[in-house]
Amino acid sequence: MKFPLYLDNHATTPMDPRVLEAMLPYFVEKFGNAASRNHAFGWEAEEAVENARKQLARLIHADPKEIVFTSGATESDNLALKGVVEMYREKGDHIITGLTEHRAVLDTAKALETKRGIKVTYLPVDKTGLVSPDDVRQAITDKTILISIMLANNEIGTINPMKEIGKIAKEKGILLHCDATQGVGKIPVDVQEMGIDLMSFTAHKIYGPKGIGALYVRKKAPRVRIAPMIDGGGHERGMRSGTLPVPLIVGFGKACELCEQEMPTESVRLAKMRDRLQAGIMKALEEVYLNGHPTQRLPHNLNISFAYVEGESLLMGVKEIALSSGSACTSATLEPSYVLRALGVGSDLAHSSIRFGLGRFNTDEEIDYTIKRIIEIVTKLREMSPLYEMAKEGVDLKNVQWATH
Ligand SMILES: *Cc1c(COP(=O)(O)O)cnc(C)c1O
Repeated sequence: MKFPLYLDNHATTPMDPRVLEAMLPYFVEKFGNAASRNHAFGWEAEEAVENARKQLARLIHADPKEIVFTSGATESDNLALKGVVEMYREKGDHIITGLTEHRAVLDTAKALETKRGIKVTYLPVDKTGLVSPDDVRQAITDKTILISIMLANNEIGTINPMKEIGKIAKEKGILLHCDATQGVGKIPVDVQEMGIDLMSFTAHKIYGPKGIGALYVRKKAPRVRIAPMIDGGGHERGMRSGTLPVPLIVGFGKACELCEQEMPTESVRLAKMRDRLQAGIMKALEEVYLNGHPTQRLPHNLNISFAYVEGESLLMGVKEIALSSGSACTSATLEPSYVLRALGVGSDLAHSSIRFGLGRFNTDEEIDYTIKRIIEIVTKLREMSPLYEMAKEGVDLKNVQWATH
């Protein structure tokens, strides 16, 4: 085993060496500008870009012409929400999204509220993290111009019923955007079957390079139009100007191709490893709670709360394993995850949560080591916890009268 172990694959993934290999010729040797229409250097770059566009499109069942390259999913989310609002403002001023969306969607929606006077409905989720299609239907008004719901959550891995939500959007004639960053490449994604009109995803979560993402923009039934955020040379059919980063695009394409080929075996292998990790921890420790949906969940995700243990202390105790806690370090304060709060997880258990994100390069040996170390550190931290001791002695902590100083 090579330390530190990496179990934070929802934050980013290491690049697959086969992706790097595909990219390398496009830095020095094949350096052309894909927009240079009048010489061989440009043609070569353009061909590489168009090949990658096909590889992306294949993975999500789209037409290559419906792919717009961006700098990442954050930009794609911004372009989808702001681009639709700008273009369809006359039709209405209401958008619908969910409380557990990624910050790239939530902060964009907030900005549209404060700067553009858009009304936003933030749908709740159930205790497993699912958005209810019925809630989507009921939130729709005659002023609604966009629904934006994520495919799979980046903290808890819960997979939303996109097909049902897509059906409702279609029926009501409202555009559906989906942040599918965590789902693409990990589970089957089909923009036709799911009725998705706009979809964000990014290379660095699927073993590709950082700094390149895409927005799928439906071309027919309906033909979706978005206002650009960046003006310039009219690249990407006018939706996103700027010289294309050919090596990154080639890497993104290769990453998609590998995901398509390996998803059937990889998702089974990761789910097995994840289930073993979950069972290993839960069998050995009491008061351990699963966050998210027990089955409708990404195959490589595990999010659990260890009662009476601070997530941050746990991470400090196992520095040789890269994990993520449910407390977001925002400048001075340590706030519990808004995703877990939206599920109704109490503040204490939210602070006690740990996210395990398995990936292509993790091994069974690493999972065994992780199970052993997590059991050790949780046991040790609980032994040091007066609260845990009191709870073990049968004191009802909710009714304790704490002395105030
Ligand atoms: C990582 C992530 C993003 C942001 O992607 P970048 O390419 O890093 O900008 C957006 N949405 C979700 C759900 C993510 O997991």
